[in-house]
Amino acid sequence: MPAPNIDTIVSLAKRRGFVFPSSEVYGGLGSAWDYGPLGVELCNNVKQSWWRWLVYERDDIEGVDSSIILNRTVWKYSGHEATFHDPLVDCRECKTRLRADKLELPSDTAEGADVVNLIKEKRVKCPNCGSTDLTEPRPFNMMLRTTLGAASADDDPTALAYLRPETAQGIFINFLNVQTTMRRKLPFGIAQVGKSFRNEITPGNFILRTREFEQMEMEYFVKPDAEHFKLVDEWVEQYMEWFVGLGLGKENLSLHEVPPNELAHYSKRTVDIMYRYFPERPDEERQWEELMGIAYRTDFDLRSHSNKPADEEGKRINPDSTEDLSYFDEAIKQRFYPHVIEPAAGVNRTVLAVLMDAYSERTNEKGETRVILKLSPQLAPIKAAILPLAKNKPEIVGMAKAVKRSLQPVLRAVYDDTGGIGKLYARQDEIGTPFCVTVDHQSLEDEAVTVRDRDTWEQERVKVSDLAEHLQKKLKP
Ligand code: ATP
Repeated sequence: MPAPNIDTIVSLAKRRGFVFPSSEVYGGLGSAWDYGPLGVELCNNVKQSWWRWLVYERDDIEGVDSSIILNRTVWKYSGHEATFHDPLVDCRECKTRLRADKLELPSDTAEGADVVNLIKEKRVKCPNCGSTDLTEPRPFNMMLRTTLGAASADDDPTALAYLRPETAQGIFINFLNVQTTMRRKLPFGIAQVGKSFRNEITPGNFILRTREFEQMEMEYFVKPDAEHFKLVDEWVEQYMEWFVGLGLGKENLSLHEVPPNELAHYSKRTVDIMYRYFPERPDEERQWEELMGIAYRTDFDLRSHSNKPADEEGKRINPDSTEDLSYFDEAIKQRFYPHVIEPAAGVNRTVLAVLMDAYSERTNEKGETRVILKLSPQLAPIKAAILPLAKNKPEIVGMAKAVKRSLQPVLRAVYDDTGGIGKLYARQDEIGTPFCVTVDHQSLEDEAVTVRDRDTWEQERVKVSDLAEHLQKKLKP
């Protein structure tokens, strides 16, 4: 039973130290969130799982970590300055700013109907006040601006820079660096994880859509004559498996083939993996939102960052670049621009999906409802909590602390004596800790502890000397 709605996770996340509203002491900052002690661990575990899977376990992918602020020219030739827009609509009545492509259309609208006409016909309502007095959509560039240099004036165009709206461009401009230093042959990929920024018109739904977020992107470089559409399907399949491995239910995942008129400027084909973030919505179609996208970006990016390609009149497309990001294929003695398949996933949306899917409730023998977060052990922020049965008994406390210290080198363990044992168990269940280890009076005699399983609440007695191995075995995916 996943969480019934995002709000359930918002309150659990705040109550238990996963995610806090940002800048709360100053009244908050719309749609900005801070990750607490457990949230940062969960995010790190998601990123590590991804990195391990792609960069370590495969033999054809390298990692990089490029700057967040790049030369502004990168965003000119990537097409973002000219086209990274969302269609902005204002409600004249209540002044709410809206995204035209996210407006709810009348139920009798034909598929593919033009939202501009519907707005003109006053058939679209403002979701805030219900008015149909909306402006026509106009493009709004989503890149967040900043200025570089101590002396720069705010409007100095030579000082203008952007916070990256995607991590991908940092990969493309390093394509040759990586390919030559690592002596790579096609096909191979470059992975990067890091923050991206978009001045979203309508951020919201907790960590689903924020202006600052984290992406896990990989550019997989292939030959121009590779079966690109098939490769998109293959990556979709592999990511579906990865998500299921993280604990997401298959029934909460679906695919969306992006229609040609909605494709980004660089894409020939994009398939989105959707997650059921809104199970409470009666209309099944409206339950889904994008978790990640897998796009075939052609050779658009490497070509447009290169200094050689020319237009029909023989004029260089990019006179600012100093490099040619092409690839020489020794086998066929040909030079070309590699094509790219890009799986682009969001850390925050993955974390939200993982939290929603792990949420469950169980009633104990006293009839009380307990929340159990059935996180996959590899993602759980804490793997084992060591609890003393009597905190006023120095020998028991001492032994519990020693057990914690002995586990720490092999897994993330915590010591907790801030309540009675029932409360401590409940707290660990709610934050997804797979195992509680209790040290009691008998432990002092038999050098054994009680290991309690989060999901079954079953308990077993384990020798302290076997504990690390015992837990490690159980934690293996
Ligand atoms: P959307 O249509 O939801 O705005 P997008 O198609 O623009 O998303 P991409 O450019 O494909 O998103 O980015 C890849 C991934 O980065 C998304 O699938 C999502 O997981 C994440 N992402 C993008 N924008 C945001 C955001 N504002 N907040 C959180 N995550 C985001």
